[in-house]
Amino acid sequence: MTLTDHVAAGNSARSILDGPALWPAQAHLPSVLGRQLIIDRGVGSYVFTTDGQKLFDGTAGLWHANIGHAHPELAEVAFQQMRKLETYHIFARFTNDKALALGERLAAMSPIQRSKVILNSGGSDSIDVACKLARRHWQREGRATKTMILSREFAYHGLHAFGTSIAGLQFNRDGYGTESLVPDTARFPLHDADAITAMVAEIGADNIAAIVTEPVQGTGGVNPPSPGYLETVEKVCRDNDILLILDEVITGFGRTGKMFAAQRFGVTPDLMTFAKGVTSGYAPLGGVLVSPRIWEPFYVDSPDTPIFRHGATYAGHATASAVALAHLDILERDGLVERVNELEVVLRDALQGLSARQGEVVDVRVSGLLGGITLSDNLSAESIADDLIDLGYISRPLRGNSLQISPPFIVTDDELEGYIAAIDTAITERVNR
Ligand code: PLP
Repeated sequence: MTLTDHVAAGNSARSILDGPALWPAQAHLPSVLGRQLIIDRGVGSYVFTTDGQKLFDGTAGLWHANIGHAHPELAEVAFQQMRKLETYHIFARFTNDKALALGERLAAMSPIQRSKVILNSGGSDSIDVACKLARRHWQREGRATKTMILSREFAYHGLHAFGTSIAGLQFNRDGYGTESLVPDTARFPLHDADAITAMVAEIGADNIAAIVTEPVQGTGGVNPPSPGYLETVEKVCRDNDILLILDEVITGFGRTGKMFAAQRFGVTPDLMTFAKGVTSGYAPLGGVLVSPRIWEPFYVDSPDTPIFRHGATYAGHATASAVALAHLDILERDGLVERVNELEVVLRDALQGLSARQGEVVDVRVSGLLGGITLSDNLSAESIADDLIDLGYISRPLRGNSLQISPPFIVTDDELEGYIAAIDTAITERVNR
């Protein structure tokens, strides 16, 4: 029965069809409409609904609100920048002072030596750019057969064209073409580095442009790399002349306790995507750090120098860039990345305690202030996340019946322990029901 049939039958589906005009993202609409949490205010690690409920933001929104919500300094920076110049594009001869300054700042922080920086509006944009640039690189090198992009099982790289096609979460790929939206993609297993070597041999390095991976897989369930895994991926790339794209959209700017996960795990990518944590969500901004091997040919002083045909109106948006610069000042001034290292210890202890007490917790994982809890099949992560809302806490169900733990970097030890205690309570209440 369709919703229209339900309405014809005069039943409760009517309220769904009469719901808000705004189409919710990534949602089974009948399950969410009529019970949406409308957030209209935030303070630090907390957000408030329009009916006045105060919620601890244990996920930092979608892993983005690293410095917490509604920081007055950033509001002031955005206000002043918009009064001076909202933005000016960076196509051809034009650019703007804030995008230039942000480029310098990011290149200086980059784990890639002598990086150039491409700016855009978010993580999905950045993945599209990185994959396009990887293919363009090999085409320009005269090796046009190198088009395949390999990614990991359960990977999430956003939902634009490339992100959809290289998704490791199959439900995000289905329905946009016979095989995928963008051709020439393949996936390898989650933690199995040997499988990558076998897959590269089977496909042939002459057909592979790049391997893309999240250093710590996020939406796939918070899966830190097994020991040596990323080093092996890097070696496979180096040995086979394949580009390594690290997707640091979640991990970038401190989430794993180093400025970038590349530094925590000791790998150097050819391309690195970032978004969320560059502004903590105070402005939509993302980008790609590009290694000299890729950018140098585009900078040769010759009439024959190729052009990378990519750009967007809001690439290098001046207000977004001004906000990012001020945000990075706050991150550094307040020692928030160092603080993540302290919080990692608190989180690990709390999750190990939870796992020891609760038989329904079958696994816990931590990397920096990024945690995952896997529940047994007796409980659903979705229902625990719902129960947590009633207790005043936000978590999120992820793949594999897991819960997302990724609060802002400004949480106190007590708040973090209180959050895990609330999860403990929610599980106990469900078990005893
Ligand atoms: N890559 C990763 C690893 C992500 O987790 C996300 C979003 O969660 C994206 C890319 C897409 O970023 P955005 O939602 O800003 O487009």
